[in-house]
Amino acid sequence: MNYPHLLSPLDLGFTTLRNRVVMGSMHTGLEDRARDTDRLAAYFAERARGGVGLIITGGYAPNRTGWLLPFAAEMRSDSDARRHRRITAAVHAEGGKIALQILHAGRYAYHPLSVSASSIKAPINPFRPRALRDVEGTIDDFVRAALLARAGGYDGVEIMGSEGYLINQFLAPRTNRRTDAWGGTPEKRRRFPVEIVRRVRAAVGTDFIIVYRISLADYVEDGQTWEETLALATEIEAAGASILNTGIGWHEARVPTIVTSVPNGAFVGVSGALAEHVDIPVVASNRINMPEAAEHILTDTGVQLISMARPLLSDPDWVRKASEDAADQINTCIACNQACLDHAFAHKTVSCLLNPRAGHETTLVLGPTRRARSVAVVGAGPAGLSAAVTAAQRGHRVTLFEAGDRIGGQFDLARRVPGKEEFTETLRYYARMLQVHNVDVRLGCRADTQTLAGYDDVVLATGVTPRVPAIPGIEHPKVLSYAEVLSGAAVGESVAVIGAGGIGFDVSEFLVTTHSPTLNRKEWQAEWGALDPQDAPTVRGALATPIPLPPAREVFLLQRTKGPQGRGLGKTSGWVHRASLKAKGVQQLCGVNYERIDDAGLHISFGSDRSGARLLAVDNIVICAGQESVRGLDDELRARGVTAHVIGGAAVAAELDAKRAIRQGTELAARL
Ligand code: NAP
Ligand code: SF4
Repeated sequence: MNYPHLLSPLDLGFTTLRNRVVMGSMHTGLEDRARDTDRLAAYFAERARGGVGLIITGGYAPNRTGWLLPFAAEMRSDSDARRHRRITAAVHAEGGKIALQILHAGRYAYHPLSVSASSIKAPINPFRPRALRDVEGTIDDFVRAALLARAGGYDGVEIMGSEGYLINQFLAPRTNRRTDAWGGTPEKRRRFPVEIVRRVRAAVGTDFIIVYRISLADYVEDGQTWEETLALATEIEAAGASILNTGIGWHEARVPTIVTSVPNGAFVGVSGALAEHVDIPVVASNRINMPEAAEHILTDTGVQLISMARPLLSDPDWVRKASEDAADQINTCIACNQACLDHAFAHKTVSCLLNPRAGHETTLVLGPTRRARSVAVVGAGPAGLSAAVTAAQRGHRVTLFEAGDRIGGQFDLARRVPGKEEFTETLRYYARMLQVHNVDVRLGCRADTQTLAGYDDVVLATGVTPRVPAIPGIEHPKVLSYAEVLSGAAVGESVAVIGAGGIGFDVSEFLVTTHSPTLNRKEWQAEWGALDPQDAPTVRGALATPIPLPPAREVFLLQRTKGPQGRGLGKTSGWVHRASLKAKGVQQLCGVNYERIDDAGLHISFGSDRSGARLLAVDNIVICAGQESVRGLDDELRARGVTAHVIGGAAVAAELDAKRAIRQGTELAARL
């Protein structure tokens, strides 16, 4: 067997999980409306069909104060439980097991009914919570939710005790200033979760899975110490939990825990340390996305299960592919958050940048075609690749033309940015899928109207070209495009970057970074002030003073509009990019007019009155001023009476991102 530990069953005594893969909880937005139940059932069933051992749902509140949003998902009534039977039956029909997560949002609840251990507002929420008075009643609500989950056909529940939600708020002195039986000492702060687990176990009986998600590193000031965490784990085990799942970092933490730049397996050590301390199985989580790494974790540490949420969005067949020795066909999650967590925080249905079918299983159907056609796809960036692979997978005969000598387009540039090395996995996936589905790939071939004659369908995914702004002196040899810089052009000691969109940020990061901290976990930890809690057992919140690596060069990042910069970056990743550039001393200038470029450098002024004239005496100026569509071929084809399908940046360059490109390519191929 390829991954003997990963694929071996786990006997919990009263039930057996078919392998060691847990699909971790991820709120999809489909939980919140009863009318989306069948969509949710299809979403989970697809992952169960792909072989996942245990699925954990998104969070369901045990009562109204615990809602994440007004009228968000809850498990409070018999009718809730009846509705869930459609989900559990769909998963069981595929041989899977599923547990319902019970999540009380506490002070992260985005509504005025919110409660917490004490009345202390969260820095990321405008609503001030009330101090919870009816603690006993809230414990009863957790018990009721667990009993309803059992009635709804679930194999178990996960009690959400991490990420800074209510239970975590009771556990940390940061948010628990109570002086009653539920606060004041670590023992009293632990009573709330321990009583929940004890009473849930007493109510549901012995043959029902109780996962407790424990926060192993809060990464906030006045968070828990490792000593307190271990004491909690001991008591939770004694109270009747079947499994301990790992949670890392509160939502308000200023240490990144899941974005692409977090090193792979960054928190495995702490899960392993917990596993040494308890007898029940421990689950490792965060930034684990490929079978080989998962297998190593299971062999090298005492951890018995691996949790992944996003990697199973990007590839529901992850386990099946691992078991068929086809890991090179896994569509690896790149931790970009663009279509999953960023959607969740914008209250949109969660999907995946790489797999637009995620969350849309009932509508984006990619079954085999009944009439195979010959399809020419021009351009091997994300749009062209997704169109070519999806069309070929459906049974069409596909030829892919690419003028360059490699596939990837803008993605091939993005993977060179420090912290985005994992984007390489996406290119590996596409390269392999082109082979598997017998796509005729013509690299170094610039398609023209003659080449494209005779195909049933022509798809133009010719992408974008960097915009060249009309600045006097733009032809100066000091000026470089972002593509030249990311492709390795020599750059001086001092640089001005024109344009502070996603690419301006990425290029600035590239310019100030000597070597990628993502590749060195200790350096990454030092940069963010994150300790391994097990090595600092008495330090609250496992925080230290950040020590950023020195910048490789002086960088000015400029934009014409007023600040602040980076407003268009992703909700869950933008703050990481902004903090990273600040730590590296990048000078951010807004409201800039670009007056001219000459041997001395870049001359700028500010505002409509052109005041504050200043020379940035830089060695190079890098242009990151957006892109323009490349679609000359479309006009030529039209002149010959051929109507092509134009997708991705070739269709609209503004605000192009890989999410739109891949979605358009997939949706088009689904219609062919
Ligand atoms: P962008 O986000 O549209 O930013 C272009 C920048 O150029 C803006 O700062 C704009 O700001 C400036 N600009 C536009 N026209 C200009 C002109 N004529 N002269 C001077 N400056 C000009 O485009 P991008 O940075 O190329 O990114 C492309 C897409 O890739 C984006 O949609 C983004 O979503 C995606 N992306 C995202 C990330 C990420 O989230 N980390 C990373 C890379 C790429 P002013 O008009 O204020 O000067
Ligand atoms: Fe992973 Fe990005 Fe897909 Fe989310 S959107 S599942 S982070 S690849």
